[in-house]
Parts: sequence; C-alpha cells; structure tokens
Amino acid sequence: MQATLHDVAPGVFAYTQLPGGWGFSNSGLITSDGESLLVDTLFDRRLTEDMLAAYTRAAPGAARIDVVVNTHGNGDHCYGNVCVGDARIIASEGCVATLRDMPPRKLHALVTLARALRRTGPVGRAVGRLLRTGGLRLPAAFFEAAPLVEELFGRFDFSGLDLVLPQETFREQLSLTVGGKRVELVEVESAHTVGDTMVFVPEDGVVFTGDILFEGAHPIMWEGPAQNWIDAFDVILGRSCDTVVPGHGPITDKKGVARARHYLVTLRDEARKRYDAGLSPDEACADIALDTFADFSEGERLYPNVVALYREFAGTRDVPHAVHLFAGMARHHPRRGDGGRKGR
Ligand SMILES: [Zn+2]
Repeated sequence: MQATLHDVAPGVFAYTQLPGGWGFSNSGLITSDGESLLVDTLFDRRLTEDMLAAYTRAAPGAARIDVVVNTHGNGDHCYGNVCVGDARIIASEGCVATLRDMPPRKLHALVTLARALRRTGPVGRAVGRLLRTGGLRLPAAFFEAAPLVEELFGRFDFSGLDLVLPQETFREQLSLTVGGKRVELVEVESAHTVGDTMVFVPEDGVVFTGDILFEGAHPIMWEGPAQNWIDAFDVILGRSCDTVVPGHGPITDKKGVARARHYLVTLRDEARKRYDAGLSPDEACADIALDTFADFSEGERLYPNVVALYREFAGTRDVPHAVHLFAGMARHHPRRGDGGRKGR
C-alpha cells in the first residue's frame, strides 16, 4: 500500500492509500485561518495516526483537528475517530446507525472467527458443506466466507479500538465554515450505505465523495437503490468541480465520475435481463461479462451488486446478512480476479 499526501487546493489536502482496495480508504483535510476539518478517519489506529502525522507536516495547524466529517458508517472511514481527541464529529443519521451496527469490537470478533475457521482447512470445508446440506445457511456461509474475510481484513488491527460515534447528525444538507472557507455536506439518501455524504469545497472546485466513488474499481452496493447512486453522480457532474477525491483509489475528475455512472447503468441493465430470464444472482454473476470495465479491480463485488439490484427489481428491502454476501464474493472471487490489487 502506498500512502501519499496531495496538495489539491490552497489549504485543501487529500491522503490516498493506493491502490485503494478493501479497507484502504482516502481522506481529506480542509484548513483555513487556523481552523481544520478532516473528512474521514481510517480503518485502524496505526493508519489514522500515520495520516494525521502527514497532515500535520503539511499544515501544522492540523495538529489539532477541530471538526471531523465521517462520509458514511463503514469502519474504514470511521474507526480512527478514536484518534481525533475532542474534535466535533459530524455525520448523517444513517452513518451513525451503520457504525453502531458494526463497531470495531464486532469486526475484530468476526475476523478472529474467520481466521480460526480458515485454519480448519478441508475439515472445515466439509463441515460447511454439511451445514449447508442441513439447511443451516448462515453457519455454512461463515465457513464459506472465512478465507476471504481473513484475507481482506486480517491485515488491519481492530483490537482494543473503542467505538467513537459522531456526536452531531444532520439530514440532507449542512453548510459549515472552516475559517474563511465554506464546506457543504450533501447526503445521498441511500446508495453505497444509508446516509452516504459527499463533501464539497465550492470555492476550490473540490469534492470528497466518500464511497460514492471507487476510482478504477467495482463499487459495492450494500444498500442501493442504483438510481440514488446515479443521481449522486449527476449532482457532482452538475457542479463546478475539477478535483474529485474518491473514497478509494486515485484522485480523479468528472471523467472518473462519468465512467462509474456508466458502470452502474450498464450493470443495472445487464442484471435486469438476467432477473427477467429467471437466473439466480450466482448464475447472473457467472453470465455478466462487463468487458468495458475489465480494468476495474475488486471484481468479486459484482455479487453483492447483483444481489442489491435483484432486491430492487423485486421491490423488497431485505438486505441479506453481510456474511452471505462475503460467501457469495468468495464464490466469485477466484474466477473474476481483481485487476492486480490482490495481496497488496
Ligand atoms: Zn470505504
């Protein structure tokens, strides 16, 4: 992983962790007249402390962060809240609910369990098959998901990380000032997660998208619907905005946003055809080619994306347990490959 600080506008910085795969998120810092606002913390204490040290070297005032905005409730954007002292932490209501549902202690337990299950090897796989045959789908999914969960998250350290929730929430929009700069928070109702938030710095033409944008990678639609996400892309495309800092991957511009929009529209159309033909999500994933996006990494995310689209087509809101989604990703991971990010 390559961590880099970028000077994107006067007093505005971004910090990328490339290539930006699972858990390696980006953040932003906005400073003006001695005040500072941090967009997102990172996945664990060490990563967040390294990031804060880099910001402090670039902008000494950042030694004390005044305000943190968490763009959404996934741990790779929030668990490092433990490192920001008494800063005001602001987020959407949906962000708080998501984070409360998966505190660091719970993810630590799941990764520890995954590590233990993975070590059971062929015996564990046989137990998994037995559980599935017996209709015990959730325990069976744990066995199936374990190797992937351990591979993706075993490299981070969640032990002893306390949950620090945002203390201030907002809905839809919130305008803040950081010294002399105006900062606008725009909530996307529900797309990647519930309560995704984009952070605009209008005078500098900069947006921090959170995980509304995964540059050069398949996005992951934990929630949907796709139309909300497409609408969020259109909000960015309709504004005066030259610098787009994604939640993961390299800094881009509107071209990156347009391509991600094209991906989502294409995938929705392709999934719809398979849904109408009666294919299961597994069958649809095996059938959908998406050759135009062959360079996108994290191809395993096609599975949860298809599951979310099928839910949308069926008009239901039943989000499956995340373990089932990781089991599905484990099934589709080896065949899809991931564009070269694996293991870095
Ligand atoms: Zn993320």
